[in-house]
Amino acid sequence: MTRHRDAAAVYAILSETYPVFADSDDEWMTSGMSDTPFRSLVSVALSTMTTSARTIKAGRALYARVSTFEELVALDDEDLREMIRSVAHYNHKTGRLKRMARQILDDHGGEVPRNREELLALPGIGRKCTDIIMNFLAEEPSIAVDTHVKRTVQRVGLVERGLSAEQTADVLQHITPTGYKAHAHEWLIQHGTKVCTARSPRCVGCPVVELCDHADAHPALRDAG
Ligand code: SF4
Repeated sequence: MTRHRDAAAVYAILSETYPVFADSDDEWMTSGMSDTPFRSLVSVALSTMTTSARTIKAGRALYARVSTFEELVALDDEDLREMIRSVAHYNHKTGRLKRMARQILDDHGGEVPRNREELLALPGIGRKCTDIIMNFLAEEPSIAVDTHVKRTVQRVGLVERGLSAEQTADVLQHITPTGYKAHAHEWLIQHGTKVCTARSPRCVGCPVVELCDHADAHPALRDAG
């Protein structure tokens, strides 16, 4: 039987260590990337396989011009392509954003759908984006798993190593206490980008070092200067 680390104990520490996004000075929030359901959905669609900084640059250009799916559909393709040029695959994303906006106008009256099946049916929207939107809309507390969250929870031992992002999301959804679910992604992503970084985790001084499988397996990391 798989042993998971004590999720409640880990979240108790992370929630004391990091702010929730709404209270942070994270540029994603201060730039208004998730201010409305429209922006939240478009921002996560832009963000796939792209850094936050590049996504924010595209979002700033785009949201200066449009605030609804009607306005997005009406944009000239070449104009849209130029606005989002900073993100990876901007050519593909131009077409997908247009198709997504058209589908939302045709099937959902111009409003962001509020259930998983309809979100997943939108062009360019996968599991991670769906979890973010379900959380944003407060329809269902969901833990979105990106590369930082996946790495962090697998190192700590909350989730078995080797599982895919989707499998990791399923396990996290199961083991995370209800009271922590709405903000779990926010704390884990901050921990994964600031402390439990990909190349050299900063185990010395890490707030969850006493609860971490990776640190147990590599005692030298606790003492590294
Ligand atoms: S102790 Fe090290 S490996 Fe474990 S969570 Fe902290 S930084 Fe990551």
